[in-house]
Amino acid sequence: MSSAYDVSKEELASLLQGEPRYRVDQVWHGLWVEAQRVGEITTIPKALRARLAEIFPPSIEVANDVQSDLGATRKWVFRLNDGATIETVLMNYEDRVTVCVSSQAGCAMGCTFCATGQAGFTRHLTSGEVLEQVMFAARAAAPRRLSNVVFMGMGEPLANYLVTMNVVRALHEYRGLSARHLTVSTVGVAPAIEKMAKTGLPLTLAVSLHSANNKDRDELIPLNRRYPLERLHEACQFWMDTTGRRLSFEWALIDGVNDRDQDIDELATYARSLRAHVNLIPLNPTPGYLVRGSSGQRVHDFREGLIELGVNATVRNTRGRSIDAACGQLAAVTNARHKSIPVRSA
Ligand code: SAH
Ligand code: SF4
Repeated sequence: MSSAYDVSKEELASLLQGEPRYRVDQVWHGLWVEAQRVGEITTIPKALRARLAEIFPPSIEVANDVQSDLGATRKWVFRLNDGATIETVLMNYEDRVTVCVSSQAGCAMGCTFCATGQAGFTRHLTSGEVLEQVMFAARAAAPRRLSNVVFMGMGEPLANYLVTMNVVRALHEYRGLSARHLTVSTVGVAPAIEKMAKTGLPLTLAVSLHSANNKDRDELIPLNRRYPLERLHEACQFWMDTTGRRLSFEWALIDGVNDRDQDIDELATYARSLRAHVNLIPLNPTPGYLVRGSSGQRVHDFREGLIELGVNATVRNTRGRSIDAACGQLAAVTNARHKSIPVRSA
C-alpha cells in the first residue's frame, strides 16, 4: 500500500472523482501544508476522511519514542509496514526546527565508526516513508513550524537517489521549504553528486569527509576505494561550478585517528581548495568501533588549527547524545535494551 505522500495531485483528483473539485485542494493542503494525516483533515467530510484513511494507512509506526535536552530533542524509532526499523530525530533550536530523516533502513556503505554501517543494509525507503517522517516531526514540532530537513539519519541518500530527489522536490514545491533549509549528507558518491548538481534542485550539500588522506579514509569509509579523494574533489568542484553554492564537510573527530596535527593540515588543504565549511562533531561511541571520540580540548584545538589555516570551521553540538541520537544508534539498540524515557506520541 502506498503512502498518501506517494500520490500526485492528478492521482488524488482521480481518486476523488465524484466529489466537488475543491476537495482535491483541501486534501492536498491538509497533507502538505498542514502536515495532517488523511484521517484528520477536518475541512473534508467525515466519511471521506474515513475512506482516505483506509486507502492510506500510515507507512511508519512509532516503535520507540525518547527525548533529551529537556525535550528539545526527540527521537523516534519507526517500524515500517514490513517490520524494518528506521530512526528520525527532531531538534528544536532557538532559530530553527530541524528534522533528521532516514533514507534507507540500514546502510550498505559499511563505514566502520557508524552504527548503521555496522548493522548493514535492509532496504531502500520509499518517498512516502521519508516524507511521513518529515510530516510526523512537523506535527510533533507544533506550534513551532518545522523549518529544516537534513538527510543525516540512517542510510546513504545518494544510494537511494531517485527517492531522495523526489523528496527534495516535493518538500520544495509543495511544502515551500527553501534550498538553504534542505541538506543532503553523503559519504561521497561522486557521480551522484554530479547528477544531483545537474538537476538544478535547490538544496545544500554536506559531504562526510572524516579523513583527507586516502590511506586512512579507505579504512574509515570503504567507498573511498571506489571514489578516492581526488575523484570526490572533482565532484565537489563540479557541484560548486554548476550550482554556484558552497558545500560543507562533516568530520567526526576520533581520538588518535583523524584528530592529529597532520589531519588539520590535510583537511585545511582539501577544504580551502573548495572553499568548503567544516563541521566538526566529536565521535559518538558505537558498540562496533572501540576508539573514543576526541576530548573537548582536542576538538577545540583542532578547530583553532583549521581557523588559523584559513578554514571556516564550527563544532556541531551533539544533540541527543544521551538518547544515542547519532546516526543509526537508537534503532540499533531499541531491540536490545529499553532504557528510554517514554513520552507522549505526536
Ligand atoms: N550516509 C550519509 C548520511 C547519514 S550519516 C553520510 O554518511 O553522510 C550522517 C552523519 O553522521 C555523517 O556525517 C556520518 O559520518 C555521521 N556519523 C556516523 N556515525 C557517527 C558517529 N558514531 N559519531 C558521529 N558522527 C557519526
Ligand atoms: Fe552509511 Fe553514512 Fe553510516 Fe557511512 S556514515 S555507514 S554512509 S549512514
